[in-house]
Amino acid sequence: MLVCHSCLQDIKAENSFCTACSLQVFGKRKMSAILPLSTNDLAEKLPSQLQKNSLVGYQNKIYLKINGTWTVPQWGAVSHLLKLPNTDRISPYKLAADMPANEHLSMQIAKQIFDIPTAKCAFMYTEDKLPLYITKLFDVSYAKDFAILLDITSDTHGESYKYDGSYEEIASYLAQKSEDNQTDLFNFFKSFVFNLVIRNGDAHLRNFSMYYNSQNLFTLTPFYDLLNTVLHIEGETMACYIDQADKANKRKIDICSLNKMSKKKILMFATTIGLDSQKINSFLDEIAGKKILIFTLIDKSFLTDRAKQLYRNLVEDSYKALFKL
Ligand SMILES: [Zn+2]
Repeated sequence: MLVCHSCLQDIKAENSFCTACSLQVFGKRKMSAILPLSTNDLAEKLPSQLQKNSLVGYQNKIYLKINGTWTVPQWGAVSHLLKLPNTDRISPYKLAADMPANEHLSMQIAKQIFDIPTAKCAFMYTEDKLPLYITKLFDVSYAKDFAILLDITSDTHGESYKYDGSYEEIASYLAQKSEDNQTDLFNFFKSFVFNLVIRNGDAHLRNFSMYYNSQNLFTLTPFYDLLNTVLHIEGETMACYIDQADKANKRKIDICSLNKMSKKKILMFATTIGLDSQKINSFLDEIAGKKILIFTLIDKSFLTDRAKQLYRNLVEDSYKALFKL
């Protein structure tokens, strides 16, 4: 089965993209999903550009520029961000080589099944077949993340500051500041449900951002850094607290078991942040009917068979816990 390395729809060519995705992700009609660089080429560039990922360096990041061909600039304008799996034998993460395919699949589920605005992304390989996740950068010069917006910093909240907020705080900021607060709040809520269904324990304050302009009007940026973290880490909890009561009690949801999580709790959260209950119920009904579509995307993804099975089992359990299905 040959699929587009971005949208996962069937195509005729191997290691390739459909024309629409090729244009959206790379600005070119025809691109290869094999990056014309080797693992060694990238490793050489790592020390100068190295940035540890939030999950304690589980993926290394390299910034690239595409103009005619791919380059790894030492400075200046970049267009794409590449994530390389950390496959060291000492890596504390299970199935580490599956992380790029996991992030690519999770972003596609968010976009195609949950209708969440997401950063454009694709799954690629180096010349020597190292799996890679690639995303087109959006204009971050006019964006601020929620650690900055809510003024929750390492100075005020210590090392793990970005895990020290609540989703209620983010929603309340959106309600006050977004120029289209109903759309932004609804998309934020959709991402909340999505993170539960696919088990993303990395939705911390820095993984939500807003654009601003000279009039100081804000709007949410596309969503990014979405993946099933339970696939790689034992004992995951939600990155942030749900509401202020949970924050006061330092109570986070166990995202491995999803116990204490239910449709009722989701509806309570939606009401707390001011969303219309009819709209929320119809969204949840819609998602409840889409389990098979999620399974189809998992099957078509670039995960290994073992990772596909685990991802599928976790989604199956989420549907039981949240929708009694
Ligand atoms: Zn495509």
